[in-house]
Amino acid sequence: MNWSEFLPTGIQLSYLVAASLFILGLKQLGSPSTARRGNQLAAVGMLLAVVATLLDRSVLSYGTIFLGMAIGAMIGAVAAYQVEMTAMPQMVGIFNGLGGGASALIAIAEFWRVLSTGEPLSLTSLIVIVLGILIGGVTLTGSFIAFGKLQGILPGSPIVFPLQQPLNVLLLGGFLVGSVYFMTDPNTLSVFFGLIAIALILGVFFVIPIGGGDMPVVISLLNSYSGLAAAAAGFVVNNNMLIIAGALVGASGIILTNIMCKGMNRSLTNVLFAGFGSDGGSSATAGSSGSAKANQTVRSVDPEEGAMMLKYARSVVIVPGYGMAVAQAQHSVKELVDQLESAGVEVRYAIHPVAGRMPGHMNVLLAEANVPYPQLYDMEDINPQFDKTDVALVIGANDVVNPAARHDNSSPIYGMPILEVDKAKSTIVIKRGMGTGFSGVQNELFFEDKTMMLFGSAKDMVGQLVAEVKQLA
Ligand code: NDP
Repeated sequence: MNWSEFLPTGIQLSYLVAASLFILGLKQLGSPSTARRGNQLAAVGMLLAVVATLLDRSVLSYGTIFLGMAIGAMIGAVAAYQVEMTAMPQMVGIFNGLGGGASALIAIAEFWRVLSTGEPLSLTSLIVIVLGILIGGVTLTGSFIAFGKLQGILPGSPIVFPLQQPLNVLLLGGFLVGSVYFMTDPNTLSVFFGLIAIALILGVFFVIPIGGGDMPVVISLLNSYSGLAAAAAGFVVNNNMLIIAGALVGASGIILTNIMCKGMNRSLTNVLFAGFGSDGGSSATAGSSGSAKANQTVRSVDPEEGAMMLKYARSVVIVPGYGMAVAQAQHSVKELVDQLESAGVEVRYAIHPVAGRMPGHMNVLLAEANVPYPQLYDMEDINPQFDKTDVALVIGANDVVNPAARHDNSSPIYGMPILEVDKAKSTIVIKRGMGTGFSGVQNELFFEDKTMMLFGSAKDMVGQLVAEVKQLA
């Protein structure tokens, strides 16, 4: 068979194999034990898709493509090695934004090409171009704002101003009217540029009223948008691979968004429009908000007493949270657990679906410290075990262990599923002070009689516990 005749079919077949590898990879990402392999499979699929696309005869300049790939690969590799685990959401945010921007550029470039060659544009092409600009533009600027909020460049608290929602509706209406005009007369370039400008502004206005702590949800939603923008770009340039990959990203992004909202028992509308949360950090002090127990006293222990409680317990459940991630205490935690286990204590980890600031945050950190997967328990599995647990050790977690979520319907976190550490025989909470968590509400757990506070930074305190447990040997 003539090789050049087979080429287009070969490319489509490679796309099919690549798409299968993406789906297989996604499936394997569903479990920590197969996630690494899933990632590798998807990467092989992407390599195949890139190589097949480069074989296409319509490629205009290999030089430009390879230059772009070299620069991109360098930035990607440096980012992957250097970025801290805690800064992962903002890195993903930037990458999403650039993906959305690239899709919008494809739509713009295709329009430009057709305009300059004088080819007629079908209504379908025009609709897809407009969609590419809207979704890609919103994703680009929205993701950059999300990055700024998480990185602390912009204030994390919701930025709201009068008539914000009506202005957004007006802008969206303007985009729709402009799009209809553009489809009837694509040659009016001022309308075309106006559409691009509105899409970029909408991205900014969409994200600024959302609190910093909710940015992972926004990033996941924008991730989904970037997939849709890529699928739209795929329709524009008639590339099946781009359509399939875009649809997969779009669908997985929306599933992840849904998982996060469920974990917080909040609707997506509430996340996007309620201006919920403080600045995503933990700056408030005791009594600052939300709890009748705020002026009660708390009991504190020192590392020596804490170590005794842990070492002489039969069963301990570790509850990691955002504070453990910030302090990078996971390696010390593993060391503590090793010590306790060698003293015959049964130790398990309880993982809340939204502990930390991104899905899987705790799983990734603990995996980094070589904690075996079977020791990690999901909320539904560990909750029935707390009443048989001697000591629950809460390390930098707050909202995810607040019992008010169960009974106080005036609390902003009412209804959020929690890890029921208050049912354990005793609880030790490691945190620096009485600062609140992301939700900004004080935690009644800290004021309970069987709760002991161990004040200090997570890494330091866990380190001291390790030393004290060793002394007790
Ligand atoms: P929280 O944000 O509720 O609390 C973290 C606590 O860590 C703070 O109270 C703080 O108290 C303490 N802390 C901070 N730094 C340190 C340190 N160096 N050492 C010890 N403690 C420290 O965290 P949770 O993990 O319990 O809950 C996550 C929150 O984030 C939830 O409200 C969730 O809804 C929200 N969220 C999570 C998402 C996800 O995907 N995971 C997405 C969006 C939102 P102190 O200042 O006193 O030390």
